[in-house]
Amino acid sequence: MQRHNTMPPPQTNSSNQNELLRAYVLERDHIRCQWPGCGATSRPEVLFIVENGQNQENGQRYQNGVTLCRKHLDTVMMHDKTFAPLIYDLIQLVEFENELNITEKTFKGLLGE
Ligand SMILES: [Zn+2]
Repeated sequence: MQRHNTMPPPQTNSSNQNELLRAYVLERDHIRCQWPGCGATSRPEVLFIVENGQNQENGQRYQNGVTLCRKHLDTVMMHDKTFAPLIYDLIQLVEFENELNITEKTFKGLLGE
């Protein structure tokens, strides 16, 4: 029996929410840069999206994120205003692709392949 990653982004109130999310993102992205056409596996970083209104005394709570290599993380950081909307889209795309993979595996499992 293969183990599939069917876990949605963790949304808990626990103090290690951010660490859980980091682990989720890295596993979902197979620890590869998700920049279109990149796929680098060396020194991957996770870029997080921060929930609105959550950056007071409890620190920031992350909503979701995406794995990027150092080079592409720097690119995004340097051009924050330009890339922020694209990063949201990229995460949506990665999540969607992840769901498709899970569906495909489920069907293959049902067909006994
Ligand atoms: Zn990259």
